[in-house]
Amino acid sequence: MAENEQKKRIAIFGSTGSIGTQALDVIRANAQMLEVEILTAQTNAPLLIKQALEFSPNAIVIGDETKYNEVKEALATTSIKVFCGEKALEEAADFDTYDVMLGAIVGFAGLKPTLRAIKKGKVIALANKETLVVAGDIVMQTALENRAPIIPVDSEHSAIFQCLVGESRNPIEKIILTASGGPFLGKKPNFLVNVKRDHALQHPNWNMGAKISIDSATLMNKGLEMIEAKWLFNLQPHQIEVVVHPQSIIHSMVQFEDGSVKAQMGLPDMKLPIQYALGFPERIKNDYPRLNFRKYPSLTFEEPDYKTFRTLGLAIEALKAGGNKACVLNAANEIAVWAFLKNRIGFLDITAVVEQTMEAIPFIAKPTLDEYFESDGEARNFAASVMKM
Ligand code: NDP
Ligand code: MG
Repeated sequence: MAENEQKKRIAIFGSTGSIGTQALDVIRANAQMLEVEILTAQTNAPLLIKQALEFSPNAIVIGDETKYNEVKEALATTSIKVFCGEKALEEAADFDTYDVMLGAIVGFAGLKPTLRAIKKGKVIALANKETLVVAGDIVMQTALENRAPIIPVDSEHSAIFQCLVGESRNPIEKIILTASGGPFLGKKPNFLVNVKRDHALQHPNWNMGAKISIDSATLMNKGLEMIEAKWLFNLQPHQIEVVVHPQSIIHSMVQFEDGSVKAQMGLPDMKLPIQYALGFPERIKNDYPRLNFRKYPSLTFEEPDYKTFRTLGLAIEALKAGGNKACVLNAANEIAVWAFLKNRIGFLDITAVVEQTMEAIPFIAKPTLDEYFESDGEARNFAASVMKM
């Protein structure tokens, strides 16, 4: 980067999470070109305070209003502005003073602030896949209207994005999303029925937040990623394929109309797609470990076990149906995963709750944003009632 170029000012929404903290690692290592403008957290006040003291952002938001005084007092001797509550999250997204929003909030809660940032024409580095799963049509249309580039952070979508650089005139025949298979690859329902929270949280290749770790164990994560890909790359359902690749070295592939397949590879480390999105269009030099092919004498591929991991089939149903189906699927899944993490339901109950909720909530073919919010609320209530919570 030339010396007289301005630093990119980054707003990290969800800075205390797995993606947020890794993004701060990237920014710390690249302080000559990246700086922190906004940080947000939901409840983790101690970490947010620590991050604020290190990175001196202009403003921070703590979602949980009961934590406001604690944060405000800890930063009283600084000039950092402190806000709290859900509304403040949206207002912060509206600030003029940042360039790139890193959307690293987990779940549906990321939708509103991301939409606000899109309406401001910001560059969106998007990790929060649920935003696209819930309302992908509105999000992408709004991004187009406001010329807000959306750069994926999810490793599979970052891989596809990277494969597509320089190919804007060449239609995609299909994309192939790779899936590690999660911690229960090869297991059958008689095993899964007894699976407990702590086991499900242990992913073989990635260290992630609790919700996405459970989604990876059920394969719902791959289903959400199929829907995410549909919107990001403007694809039809039949153009999106999933293949299980347990080594997580090929992060995904694009097949073009001449049959040529491009793959993006690397060691599984989320700092790489985060860094790519924050640096885009430049690649930032780093000294992270390099991929040594000799250590991976075989890269293997297999069909997902749709019979055992039925959430993947449910997500494909939502992908094909369109309308509010994916929004309903996502809401039910968020509620069910939360209940599983609290040891209130079993692992396989997650699938049952999502399935029943998808059957129960009325289909809307072309929802407005308000209707997406209503569908989300209805699905959450229904899912909770199924679990008698
Ligand atoms: P984490 O649970 O680790 O972090 C979530 C972040 O969002 C935290 O900062 C949390 O604050 C904040 N948050 C939680 N609930 C709310 C809410 N209701 N309103 C506002 N903020 C909230 O999640 P991850 O970092 O694992 O994942 C973030 C997103 O990125 C997800 O959508 C996930 O699917 C996606 N992603 C993650 C990957 C990974 O490797 N982790 C890989 C690919 C995609 P607090 O800490 O205070 O609770
Ligand atoms: Mg992914």
